[in-house]
Amino acid sequence: MQATEITTRAGAVIGRCLKLASFSEDLESTRRTFLSPPVRSCHTELARWMEPLGVQVGIDAAGNFRGVYPGQQPNAPRLLIGSHLDTVPNAGAYDGILGVVLAVALLEELRGRRLPFGVEVVGFSEEEGVRFGTPFIGSRALVGRLDRELLDLCDARGISVRKAIAEFGLNPGEIPQAELPDNTLGYLEFHIEQGPVLEHLNLPLAAVHTIAGQSRLEFLFLGLANHAGTTPMHLRSDALAGAAEWIGAVERVAKEDPGLVATVGKIEAKPGATNVIAGEARLTLDVRHSSDEIRSRAVVDLTRQAKEIAARRGLSVRESIALDQRAVAMDPFLTGQIEQAIVKAACKSHRMVSGAGHDAMILAEKVPSAMIFLQTPSGISHHPAETVAHDDVEKAIACGLHLLDQLASSPEFLKRTNRA
Ligand SMILES: [Zn+2]
Repeated sequence: MQATEITTRAGAVIGRCLKLASFSEDLESTRRTFLSPPVRSCHTELARWMEPLGVQVGIDAAGNFRGVYPGQQPNAPRLLIGSHLDTVPNAGAYDGILGVVLAVALLEELRGRRLPFGVEVVGFSEEEGVRFGTPFIGSRALVGRLDRELLDLCDARGISVRKAIAEFGLNPGEIPQAELPDNTLGYLEFHIEQGPVLEHLNLPLAAVHTIAGQSRLEFLFLGLANHAGTTPMHLRSDALAGAAEWIGAVERVAKEDPGLVATVGKIEAKPGATNVIAGEARLTLDVRHSSDEIRSRAVVDLTRQAKEIAARRGLSVRESIALDQRAVAMDPFLTGQIEQAIVKAACKSHRMVSGAGHDAMILAEKVPSAMIFLQTPSGISHHPAETVAHDDVEKAIACGLHLLDQLASSPEFLKRTNRA
């Protein structure tokens, strides 16, 4: 970052993201998992920025940072703006964090002006699923889904979610109090795209209309391990060759449907020796689309093709489903408002699907939720090279301010609450 940029509001946002990235469990890189010690430094820093704005800050029993900027009336309904504060190992400085820091910047830009609704900045304690292997622990508390099963999950050192909460000085018994109040108007999340689409289109911002559904499966091709030198080609049952043919089919099927993505990200062949035909090949399949129907159809088609390939090659195949998660639509009203705000910020409006899961998908269970993506240079994320452009951050702030103004003058928005 250039020294001159620090003096701009976008430069300040970027500087704050870099500052929060310095609070890490690792010495040389950023790693901040659920309620690890550096999370406390993050909370302290956020409070330091927000308290001068008249924001009442607190940490809920799930470890989420909550800062309430009051509305014009004492019991004004509330709009939540935020994202997550935890990171993957060897993380960049912007995934999640930027959404929280931008929310703070928007409150600063209000310069003491009160809106007809309060604004609650939320920094979720856990989104990535690194420590306990299960994501969204923070946001699930807000929708009443941080249940006993989740609290009993243990990390690699045998510490449960419940114990981690207690060790951080919080009371797991108070988790129900973390739930969204009835007068919540909605949830907004700024997030980096974490993909190459906006850069490819040369656009700084986009409104997310849907968070894609996901299917995750495991396929096991079984053949016969045998000598690589003495077994002629026509007398083999090569599980890995069958799996390879099927991987080609996965790529073909995905390319036939616009928006469909399908990935074999992991393969394990056994026994795994240069001079032995593989008797076993275990593969993962990840399929995503904004339409659950298209996604399911692809999974059925690929399962059928795996069986056909296996039968033709004298192999057997078994599949098991690890995840079948439905697509989540963002709130059409808020998404439309975001598009208008993007145009007012002098950008071309664009709607897109999020291929990755986000906290907004959990909040959408209870309140109207929406997302704004910022272009991710080179599409790089979950890596220290992750970055954002100064001008795009400036446009995001402008978009956010227009959006707050639009919502403040919208009777349709103000009459909404999560029980409406
Ligand atoms: Zn994220």
